[in-house]
Amino acid sequence: MVNLQDPVFRTAIWEVYNRKCYYCKELIQEFTNFHIDHIIYKAIIQNEPNKFEELKKKLNLSPNFDINDIINLVPSHIKCNRDKWDKVLEIETYLHHFSITKDKVILIKKKMIEIGKKFENFEKEALNEYFLLQEQSSEILIPNLKVIEEIMEIWSEISPSENDVLGFIVLEKFNEIFLKKSISDEEFPIIKKFIEFAPKIIFNTDGNLNLDIIHILYLLTPAKKAKHLLNKKIIPDIIEIYNSGNRDKEIIKFLFYCGVLEDLFSLMIKASDEKNLDFVRFLKDEYYNLISKKDEKHKIIQNRKEIIKNLTKKKHELGIIENPSSEVKEIIERLNEIIRNIMKLE
Ligand SMILES: [Zn+2]
Repeated sequence: MVNLQDPVFRTAIWEVYNRKCYYCKELIQEFTNFHIDHIIYKAIIQNEPNKFEELKKKLNLSPNFDINDIINLVPSHIKCNRDKWDKVLEIETYLHHFSITKDKVILIKKKMIEIGKKFENFEKEALNEYFLLQEQSSEILIPNLKVIEEIMEIWSEISPSENDVLGFIVLEKFNEIFLKKSISDEEFPIIKKFIEFAPKIIFNTDGNLNLDIIHILYLLTPAKKAKHLLNKKIIPDIIEIYNSGNRDKEIIKFLFYCGVLEDLFSLMIKASDEKNLDFVRFLKDEYYNLISKKDEKHKIIQNRKEIIKNLTKKKHELGIIENPSSEVKEIIERLNEIIRNIMKLE
């Protein structure tokens, strides 16, 4: 049984299947389009538990067989995943699939060890090395994206494959550290340094905000200790920038993560214009995160009327735009989807 979110596992399965979709055999170009599909569909445990037990016997699977066992998992495009079909296949079809995936299990496990070793401690080492470099120079002068580039350079030396994978892993690794409620004593000084260091480079030499730094900062926000540091040092600055009229989506996102702007739906309404399609996409994902949390879901249900009213109003506002661009159309579609989902929430 594996954790489907584990970047080491995801990279390993992707590599072992030659970065191809198990179903259509085409390359999976980007990690963002990469889905891990269950051959025996995942929801069978809830939907048809008896059928699941029966299948295990018929397919000669161990009684301890887990739906997330590697043999049951294949890489696929998001569009090709069959999870959503939620149906039981013919026994012969399963036997065919498992005859292929069986041989991959050991390869994936080997690959995971290989990749795991490479990434063990890498984030600490890389950042430590980076900050050491910074300490040695008396003046920190880093224009534009230099910081990220340098960090990426250090990372790329230990990359198992291409940069998009690397980026994904780096982000996941960061998330791993920062999503923890607390940070280890070892990690803390690195983060503290980063936060002290960030204001120096938060503005580019041309006076614009360095969005990459903001991006890393908001990765830091869920961690309690980091948040404490942010509260003292960075958040007041960012709020000032926001209050002075800057509505860049990265800033809004950052404040959102810091809990400064807590109301997702009013944010969604504010952000719903042509320029912010990415941000609306992001908020949509955040919406799904919210409804997966019991308390938050309850809050949405309680305020359902009001939320739907406001979202509908926004939708109509966008709907009367003459010759709407494809971005506007997509935002309307997304708002529609969310409204439908809120109506269905129980
Ligand atoms: Zn495919």
